[in-house]
Amino acid sequence: MREALNQGLIDFLKASPTPFHATTSLAMRLEAAGYQRLDERDTWATVAGGRYYLTRNDSSIIAIKLGRHSPLIGGIRLVGAHTDSPCLRVKPQPELQRQGFWQLGVEVYGGALLAPWFDRDLSLAGRVTFRRDGKVESQLVDFKMPIAVIPNLAIHLNREANQGWAINAQNELPPILAQVAGDERPDFRALLTEQLAREHGLNADVVLDYELSFYDTQNAAVVGLHGEFIAGARLDNLLSCYAALQALLNADSEETCVFVANDHEEIGSCSACGADGPMLEQTLRRLLPDGDDFVRTIQRSLLVSADNAHGVHPNYADKHDANHGPKLNAGPVIKVNSNQRYATNSETAGFFRHLCMAEEVPVQSFVVRSDMGCGSTIGPITASHLGVRTVDIGLPTFAMHSIRELCGSQDLAHLVKVLEAFYRSRELP
Ligand SMILES: [Zn+2]
Repeated sequence: MREALNQGLIDFLKASPTPFHATTSLAMRLEAAGYQRLDERDTWATVAGGRYYLTRNDSSIIAIKLGRHSPLIGGIRLVGAHTDSPCLRVKPQPELQRQGFWQLGVEVYGGALLAPWFDRDLSLAGRVTFRRDGKVESQLVDFKMPIAVIPNLAIHLNREANQGWAINAQNELPPILAQVAGDERPDFRALLTEQLAREHGLNADVVLDYELSFYDTQNAAVVGLHGEFIAGARLDNLLSCYAALQALLNADSEETCVFVANDHEEIGSCSACGADGPMLEQTLRRLLPDGDDFVRTIQRSLLVSADNAHGVHPNYADKHDANHGPKLNAGPVIKVNSNQRYATNSETAGFFRHLCMAEEVPVQSFVVRSDMGCGSTIGPITASHLGVRTVDIGLPTFAMHSIRELCGSQDLAHLVKVLEAFYRSRELP
């Protein structure tokens, strides 16, 4: 059971190199479970007990399982996560030719840990917008093959490398794609046209634009002498997306359940499809068009905002408060910050702890050291938009925002179990 779940996560990570692909992977799994796609541009005819989902910008998704009775009675059980991860994005006019190499200029998306991007076998994926027969269309592409690399500088040429080394993102990050002759002028858009033909059999007249990012082709894997860990890219926050989806699909619930996964968390959530935009509120208002009913329902609802936490690292244990060092494989972490960088309060934390106890799932708590700044996530943003009670939780990981992060191999099952219990719970506080 646990092995099947972990393998499901590894497969999901492989299929989801970008937020666009993650959204598609989630949508495919929802459709396979009988969820119907809603188009935001159409009128909706939803029915009690129905299962639906919608996407925005192809990169954010909301799944809705309507209860047998109105959500006005029992409230809505919401779980939130995010689809994006820090990465290197290709610039609009990326072609560089230096020393006989063809390289692409990249922008850093989010707070990426840059050093681990060197010496990796990189591929490229994302969304391409093109013109075909006079019409503008978009398609997702994924080169899948390792087509690029950012080689390190040899230590002989940088003797200070192990004493701390600042990375200049403009000069040092452009990945190398090919070696070219002096008069050759490779065209990135022509490469994308070829990829559209190869992957989708589409003959594009011209590639108009794209959002493409590099990713590591090494698959996620179970590692450790006894298989204690899962190593992989984008665990922040596809680990939570996968757990929430599994919980939603498993939960046999009479109540209204929602799963929302927003893009753009890593860059502040402020966008049309981000948590700081109107997507979730607009969706819920369409289900509850009466303003009074809307407020009454939200006040009976609860959001579990799931995003990874920092486990205490044996080599850097002093980075944690001595009493608040979450351990890998010791269950989900309730994240608390009195300055509301996390939206958790004593009631919502108490309810989550109660769910964990009832399910015999171990639970931990995290508060940042008092002399350090605290991260944040979609929890406080969604709470302040909707006015919904919220608890911020997440699984402990190492190397957050690296190209290869690490979590405990027992923790995914823990999180799925408690989120499933949340979706199933008859009464909210
Ligand atoms: Zn995150």
